[in-house]
Amino acid sequence: MSSAQYLGDAARVQKLSRLVEVSLVINSTLDLEPLLRYIMDTAAEITGSQSASILLIDAKTQELHFMAFNTEDDAVQSHLKRIPVPLNDSIAGAVVLENRPIVLDDVNTHPRHFRKADDSSGFQTYSLLGIPMRIKDRVIGVLEAVNKIGDGWTEDDQTYLEILASQAAVAIENASLITRLRTAYHELSQLDKMKNDFIAIASHELRTPLSVILGYASFLKDEAQGEASEHAEAVLNSALRMRQLIEDMTNLRYLKIGEGELERTVVPVVDMMMMAAGDVQSMAEANGHRLEYATPGYDLALKVDKGKIVMALTNILNNAIKFTSKSGTIRFGCQTHDNEVWLVVQDEGIGIPKDQYERIFEEFYQVADHMTRKHNGMGLGLAIAKAVIQAHRGRIWVQSAGENKGSTFYISLPLS
Ligand code: ADP
Repeated sequence: MSSAQYLGDAARVQKLSRLVEVSLVINSTLDLEPLLRYIMDTAAEITGSQSASILLIDAKTQELHFMAFNTEDDAVQSHLKRIPVPLNDSIAGAVVLENRPIVLDDVNTHPRHFRKADDSSGFQTYSLLGIPMRIKDRVIGVLEAVNKIGDGWTEDDQTYLEILASQAAVAIENASLITRLRTAYHELSQLDKMKNDFIAIASHELRTPLSVILGYASFLKDEAQGEASEHAEAVLNSALRMRQLIEDMTNLRYLKIGEGELERTVVPVVDMMMMAAGDVQSMAEANGHRLEYATPGYDLALKVDKGKIVMALTNILNNAIKFTSKSGTIRFGCQTHDNEVWLVVQDEGIGIPKDQYERIFEEFYQVADHMTRKHNGMGLGLAIAKAVIQAHRGRIWVQSAGENKGSTFYISLPLS
């Protein structure tokens, strides 16, 4: 082996091991901008060129765009990114359309040399090596190495750049997907935040006038005589229903609650029962219902998120009142079973068909027959209650003896 051949082989081995190193780096980089820059620098380094660039096809316009260009000047970089490089009128376009490498010692000999890029960057390209970047058979862009002087390209230069281009295509595609996912996630989070802010502001703004209406309506109902009292009662009932709608709207965010979001403290069960009963007291009275309790002693306590358990209980009590015709009895009790505490709400209302036992806990679901009876609501109360109870590793279910024979809702929470 001649010393020139030996040196040539040693240089090849060095370049190939460099490409292996590069492959490891680019496959672990998911940030598009630094990835493109690294690939571009490597393209220049591995072919010993003065400069390199990456052009990618815009999926929407099907035009090529410079995504990385070897310049320190940010203004030139961003200007070049905006210039569409026509597929039919550029050497890079020819690489894409012909789906093959183009090797030119003098770009001026190519009929489609796109001079705008050189004019903008001030880099007068003389020789060019353009390689298609492919994912399977689909060309996603072009990797170019360029020189201002034409000292020619070797077969090795082309091979190295082809190896780099094939690795780069996959890495760029992955990073682009991640970038798009991040952008979509960011936009969705912002929308979600806007929605939550809107709901919070709207419900806050509605609550204040509503409490004034509730106060006056209940005063009038008690003080006025005859027809006026009936009108006041109608106003009171509507305002109470509206308050429940606002509560459901405000509590929408709990549909996705996880165990980590609970603020657990040790709370006597009786406290939670009394708070929930207190929340629905005025509505029960307005409907002429009797609320009977069977509360446990103070020593029965659970480590739970008090506010959220009370909210779940309130939703169930509200339904019991809403779906029971006037002057019924609602029984609210507590039982212990092995390692569980059961909270039980029994009503004398319209009942729930057996085939609906599961579905009523779905978001926005309402039993069709019940809707025709014009009960108001959004179909969220039970879904929110279920999410909150499940976050506590508890269970919630219903039983009903049949139409107009009432329903019994059970919440089971682990004692430990
Ligand atoms: P909403 O009460 O706002 O419609 P929920 O999620 O609280 O929403 O309840 C879902 C559906 O389950 C109700 O629309 C009703 O059809 C049924 N339901 C819930 N509680 C009772 C009950 N105590 N008696 C009869 N049907 C009920």
